[in-house]
Amino acid sequence: MTTEIICQQCDTSFAYPDAEHDFRQLRGLARPLLCPECRKRERNRRNGDLVNLYKSTDSFDPFLLGENSQVGGGHRAMRDARTMHNATCAACGAATKVPFVPRGDRPVYCKDCFNARNGR
Ligand SMILES: [Zn+2]
Ligand SMILES: [Zn+2]
Repeated sequence: MTTEIICQQCDTSFAYPDAEHDFRQLRGLARPLLCPECRKRERNRRNGDLVNLYKSTDSFDPFLLGENSQVGGGHRAMRDARTMHNATCAACGAATKVPFVPRGDRPVYCKDCFNARNGR
């Protein structure tokens, strides 16, 4: 026996064979609401949506990269905003600022002396 179903989209009646009903029941699927033609159209439309999604994802990537570089800039700004502490250079005695608290157990050098020592 074949059941006739009215397509919800185009109001066309289409055949719903018992064989398909059994097939769908086995897979726990409900009876179709759309005729085979409309189902095909729906599938194509969904595929089109997927294609559009991928397209929008492509255009989204550079935006994401831009976001990341902005985050990097934020980190740089944070590093620059670190608290500086007054210190006296152990090599030339000049007043300098260091990004850590001078404890006295380690010599503190001004930027020039630090670079000179590291350069050697
Ligand atoms: Zn239809
Ligand atoms: Zn110095």
